[in-house]
Amino acid sequence: MTNCNNQNRLVSVFDDPPRSNVLLLSCMDQRLLDDTVRFMNELNLQNRYDQVALAGGAMGALQLLNPNLPPAKRWQGVFEAHLATAINVLHRPIKDVFLLDHLDCGAYKYLHPDPDIQAKYRKADLCQMVPLHQNELKNFACEVKKFIASEHKKAEDEFDKAHSACDSKELDKEGKQCWDYVSKLAWEKVEAWQNIRVSYFVMDLLGKVKQLDVPNGQNATLPY
Ligand SMILES: [Zn+2]
Repeated sequence: MTNCNNQNRLVSVFDDPPRSNVLLLSCMDQRLLDDTVRFMNELNLQNRYDQVALAGGAMGALQLLNPNLPPAKRWQGVFEAHLATAINVLHRPIKDVFLLDHLDCGAYKYLHPDPDIQAKYRKADLCQMVPLHQNELKNFACEVKKFIASEHKKAEDEFDKAHSACDSKELDKEGKQCWDYVSKLAWEKVEAWQNIRVSYFVMDLLGKVKQLDVPNGQNATLPY
């Protein structure tokens, strides 16, 4: 079972930027589209990330329902399907998942399933909104880590199954082809799902981004 209390970054992405690909989850909000691209460009990620946009970002994925998608009813299923497609089908070398929320988010004000949180968010000033985002981001990051761990386990099981099938053959030409297949495809999938970090951030209305999942006192902000 994934321990979600384990921080998977000791320093912020601003001090240790991704060296491979990223999958970015953001809100759909029209006001911050250019700032989101700028944030990713500042981390030298031009054309090195895939993006999923859902109303409310991590909160939308964690809390909101899509009646057209039983049995995976939450938007979470949509996000996970995109992550799995990027890795398994498109073979993106994703080693970082970014969850990017923003302050003054309409989804928190009008779509959050808890009316108390809606009311609290509507009354909050920008600083008071941050812990509400932090809570949703932390919980959704935990779900993403669990999904990644389960995909990794699935890939390991597939590798073991293929491995045993090869072991049952003589080491003739067929056996050799079998080993080639196992090492090339099944093991690549195991590697694709390991060592993926999940980081989360909140953007203010000027486009300034703060990372919230790093150790105490290191809530780094990208300097402009
Ligand atoms: Zn929003």
